Parts: sequence; structure tokens; C-alpha cells
Amino acid sequence: MPIGRRAFNQGLASSIAAGTTVGLPGTAKAYVGPNVIIVRFGGGVRRAETIVGQTSYAPYMMNVLAKQGTLIPDLSIAELKDVDTSHAEGTLNILTGSYRSYAKVGSQGLAPLLEPREPTLFEYFRKAFNVPSHQALLINGEDRPQEEYLTYGGHKHYGVSYRSEVIGLFRYKLHKFQRILEENKASEEVLAKARKQLDELRAQDYRGTANRRSPIMERFWDRWRNDYGDSGLKNPRGDRLLTELAVRAISELKPRLMMINYQDPDYVHWGNASHYTRAIAVIDQGLKRLAESVASDPAYRGRTVFVIVPDCGRDSNSLMSVPYQHHFNTRSAHEIFALIAGPGIAAGKVLDKAVDQTSIAATVGAIMGFRARSAEGRVLSEILT
Ligand SMILES: [Zn+2]
Repeated sequence: MPIGRRAFNQGLASSIAAGTTVGLPGTAKAYVGPNVIIVRFGGGVRRAETIVGQTSYAPYMMNVLAKQGTLIPDLSIAELKDVDTSHAEGTLNILTGSYRSYAKVGSQGLAPLLEPREPTLFEYFRKAFNVPSHQALLINGEDRPQEEYLTYGGHKHYGVSYRSEVIGLFRYKLHKFQRILEENKASEEVLAKARKQLDELRAQDYRGTANRRSPIMERFWDRWRNDYGDSGLKNPRGDRLLTELAVRAISELKPRLMMINYQDPDYVHWGNASHYTRAIAVIDQGLKRLAESVASDPAYRGRTVFVIVPDCGRDSNSLMSVPYQHHFNTRSAHEIFALIAGPGIAAGKVLDKAVDQTSIAATVGAIMGFRARSAEGRVLSEILT
């Protein structure tokens, strides 16, 4: 049985009164709503390989999680001029609830560097509630530095003061090289290499936030370094790494809002269909592990809403050697889905309506108790109990 939101909030309020939540000085009120974990089922996935029963590579999501929440099989990215079905763009549709609300401020390789112009969910959340930045977290992939900075926008009433912390190997490497230099114990050769690599990483930090060091995040990375060392060879890689980071974050940082930017289905660009389907299965196993972490932690059990949504779909172009691109704006690149599950959300329901991707931000706001003012999509009130 889903817990009613009012009863749920009362339960959480008493846990906060008992002093289990860390707060920051300020005027914003304490957060008493559910934890929200947004899973970007990313790297672009079509409905056919994810939510269609016969052909899905995500059995945990469809057989277990879908029964606990509301499946929205007809979510789509609107077909508008200048709306690209791609990764950073789709991530910002999810985070701002608004299409085309970004400025291109440069590029890294082939990927555009985008800066949101409307507030992100992190900014709305941290402006409305007294929540420290490490409890509004973005977990990023290791080879997408262009997604490092989707955590706050250029909106004059929001912005960098309300940003999320970012966890990913880019941040870990910055931390590691800084530590190696501070410790000053390694050989001159290792120190020189660390200095060079640190300079290169800092050069990628085009918004200048990666070098702001917070003691809580420093300790998080010190523990990671202690477990995995400096070689980079021991830690999991790809989307398994993102799951590992998310599970550790749940245990050590207790985020109230966390977004995990899975991405490996995108390896299908290089031409091997099995890279795509295997990556979907890895994300599905990640969902299982996340759900197990939530179930075993009293701060999360019965108090956590999962919001699962792809950044974009993929093309179905059978004339191409790789039929699954996502840059041709074909229909299936726009056709995605969402699954929302947890306290306050109707369980075992299928929302049989056309829904826009921009409704996710508005609905996350309603679940967490703030209004995402610039969201173009509507609050999906019919899934709330
Ligand atoms: Zn791609």
C-alpha cells in the first residue's frame, strides 16, 4: 500500500525533529518530503528495448518496479523546431521542464556545452528548502565532462548558490591529483605528472565550480581513494561505476534529491547493437541494486520516490548500418517513457495518456513540495495519491 503523502510527511517531520537531518543556516525551511532519485535511463533508449514486454532488456524495471508505481508508456519529447533529441538537451528538458531553455556556451569535442537558462530542479529545491549542496546530487558518467555543469543555470534569482554537488570520475581525479600534490610524498616524476593532469582537468572546468572544495565531499573522495587507490584500475567502470557511486552516496551523504545520469546505451553509435542491449541490462541491474540500498536504509525505506526517464529515444532507421542513432529526429527518437514509484504515487498503474517530457520537472516539484515555475509541462496529478 502506498503511504498517503500527509501521513508520510508527518512521519518524516518527526524524524527531523529528532535531529536526523543536517541543515544549513538560512531562512529556508527544513525539508520534510520524500527523497527523490531521478534515474536518467540515458544514452538514449527506445521503448522497444525497455518497456515492451516481449523485447525488453529491463526485466527488473518492468516486472518488479512497475508494479510498485505508475508506468507512463507514452511519454515523448515534443517535435519542435530546434529541439534536438540528444543527451545534454534531454537531460535539461528533465531538469528544467522546459525545451530550448539553454544557451550553447562552447563545445568539447563534438559535444555542445550547454548552460540552462531556466532554474534546474536542484536550484528550485535548494531555494525552497534548507538542504546542503551534497544532499542535492548529480552522479555523472566518466567521459562526459560536458554534463558536469548542468547543475545550475544562469537565472538571476537562482544560479550557483543553489547548485548540486557532482560526483563522477572527473571530480575524483581532480581530488586525487590535488591530494597527491598536497601529500608531496611521491617521486618528482609522479608529482610533475599530477601537476600536468590537474592543469588539464581544470582547463575543462569551464564554469569554475569543480575547484570549490567542500570538506564533506573531500572526505567522500578520501574514502573512495582509500578503497580503490590511485591506479583507476580497481573501481568499476561505465554505468556500473555510476551505480557504485550512487549506492555510496546513499550510505554516506544521504541525498534528498539525486539524479543518476546513466549513459552507456550510447555506445551503440559505434555500430554494435549488443553494446546497446547489454547496457540497458546493466542499468536495469543498477535499478535493482539502488532499490535494495533504499530498502535496507531506514532513512530511505518507504520514503523514497524513483523517477525513471530517458534523456531521448533512438532512431529506427533500417537503411543505416547502425539503425539506432538519435540525430535524425525520427519518431522513435522522440518516443520515450517514464516510471515513477514510491510513497504518494499510485502503484501498479499505467497512465494511458500522451505525456510530455517537460511534465517530469513539474511533477517532481509537486512530489517534493515546490513549484517548478518555468516548467512548460503539467503536474501529473492523476498519479499522486
Ligand atoms: Zn548519442
